[in-house]
Amino acid sequence: MSATLLDGKAFAATLRSKVSEHVSGLKETHGITPGLAVVLVGEDPASEVYVRNKARQTVETGMQSFEHRLPAETSEADLLALIDQLNNDPAVHGILVQLPLPGHMNADLVINAIEPAKDVDGFHISNVGLLGTGQKAMVPCTPLGCLMLLRDHLGSLSGLNAVVVGRSNIVGKPMAQLLLGDSCTVTIAHSRTKGIEALCRSADILVAAVGRPEMIKGDWIKSGATVIDVGINRIDAPEKGLREDGTVKTRLVGDVDFDSAVQIAAAITPVPGGVGPMTIACLLANTVTACCRANGLPEPQGLTA
Ligand code: NAP
Repeated sequence: MSATLLDGKAFAATLRSKVSEHVSGLKETHGITPGLAVVLVGEDPASEVYVRNKARQTVETGMQSFEHRLPAETSEADLLALIDQLNNDPAVHGILVQLPLPGHMNADLVINAIEPAKDVDGFHISNVGLLGTGQKAMVPCTPLGCLMLLRDHLGSLSGLNAVVVGRSNIVGKPMAQLLLGDSCTVTIAHSRTKGIEALCRSADILVAAVGRPEMIKGDWIKSGATVIDVGINRIDAPEKGLREDGTVKTRLVGDVDFDSAVQIAAAITPVPGGVGPMTIACLLANTVTACCRANGLPEPQGLTA
């Protein structure tokens, strides 16, 4: 058996088209252009790439992009002052502070300074509480993307056994809340979980958000399960040869050992091209949702949980 590949790249492209349509509608019917502000502190190379991609895709979907790049030595007070300014700017419907922040800043304090209605990352404590109590929230982008892929492939998730491996605040915990919201029976596994292999084998839906390359093997997977691989890990790929500087080339792999898992699962997200492209698409979707909520307009269907 070879699993169906859940094509996050194609799904994300469709989602971005829906976002573009809603943005056009908001402009034409209400004269409103959704706006997303992204704040980057410091020069972390990976964060620079993410921020550039976010800004490009924001503009491509017809929204306004406001980029704020601050030097690494910016004081926490100055960052909080910028967030206050963005909170009060009616052209800004979504605010994202790119993590990680430099070590002298308290990330929780900074994230909780964002107006919850503009918190398009869904990390503010109010949004965490709203999601946890089944109320209307801003939903974290990566787990939202996973949920959309699962619903698209499986239809109803009700009654299915879901195991989420990883309990981070940005992926594992909100993923578990979303699955519970869709009436799955949810177990969260982590580094101290006993008998994790058998636990994973009980899952109809297995979500891996661990950060350990190819940790989850095919024989950890229940035959016919749907596997969502959130992991993005770069490993050496000597088969690809050397770079000009003599170092070994690398490749991206997930937290699931794809080659063995694809033989057992009924469906699986590849890495790359699975969950990864969904995250920015969901950020754009969240910005449209936030814009509609801020203006008292009906929320577009299919853009949030
Ligand atoms: P994280 O904050 O490092 O959390 C990792 C979780 O995995 C922790 O809860 C940890 O358990 C658990 N864990 C570590 N080793 C384990 C083991 N041997 N067995 C079972 N559980 C173990 O990571 P994250 O931010 O959630 O990210 C997870 C992965 O997803 C990373 O590869 C990251 O790059 C990727 N990611 C992708 C996207 C995307 O857009 N596709 C977005 C975000 C993250 P403890 O809590 O017990 O330490």
